[in-house]
Amino acid sequence: MIEIEKVNKWYGDYHALVDVTESVARGEVVVVCGPSGSGKSTLIRTLNRLEPIQSGNIRVNGQDIHAQNIDLNAFRSGIGFVFQQFNLFPHLTALENCTLAPMHLRGLSAKVAQEKALSLLDRVGLADKASAMPESLSGGQQQRVAIARALAMEPPLMLFDEPTSSLDPEMVGEVLLVMRDMAKEDMTMVCVTHEMGFAREVADRILFMDAGKILERATPDDFFNRPAHPRAAKFLADIR
Ligand code: ATP
Ligand code: MG
Repeated sequence: MIEIEKVNKWYGDYHALVDVTESVARGEVVVVCGPSGSGKSTLIRTLNRLEPIQSGNIRVNGQDIHAQNIDLNAFRSGIGFVFQQFNLFPHLTALENCTLAPMHLRGLSAKVAQEKALSLLDRVGLADKASAMPESLSGGQQQRVAIARALAMEPPLMLFDEPTSSLDPEMVGEVLLVMRDMAKEDMTMVCVTHEMGFAREVADRILFMDAGKILERATPDDFFNRPAHPRAAKFLADIR
């Protein structure tokens, strides 16, 4: 699904990704963790070409994402991306947030898009909030709408960058629950998160990054119980 090969990225003279090579299989749920500034967001943002890279290759679904002739809109519409900030369209209802892209980019009729959006809002527990404006929703509700909006495009791949870290603690659980459900289905997911309970329970594999490198790739059991790299062991000790 994703093949990352010898990717290097610099911000000016800061080497943010150092020879990163990794692959993610279809249906796999991968959690990326590591200290602040280690390059997690940078890595995930390179996957949908929000960040340019200076060397290396990235293939998503067999497609070289830096190819000259790539249709960037079509490529990006196949990847759901959920950020820390929910960034819903503030002037649109929850339902309209979920129907906009399917209607405009996929050509769905309003009726079909609405039916689908309603079933997705139902799936994230917000069927009764379809006509609510974002500002009237809690943070956790807004983030669940953001997830429903991403799912409305039926992306085979979902990327998450700390989707719960700007939420009040009591709202984290409801968002993780939705993500857990998605993981049980066939969705390929790459999640940057500090929610180690989620990582332990849901991840097929954990990637630990430090200073722009993936230092450890392990099953949750190995990572949490037998971290191989001393830097990973220290990270785990610090967050416990
Ligand atoms: P956090 O856990 O705090 O979100 P992270 O692992 O996501 O951290 P990144 O945001 O990927 O880290 O940043 C990696 C490094 O690249 C950091 O040292 C950061 O300061 C630097 N960096 C990130 N974005 C830029 C930018 N636009 N310009 C310059 N440097 C940047
Ligand atoms: Mg980050």
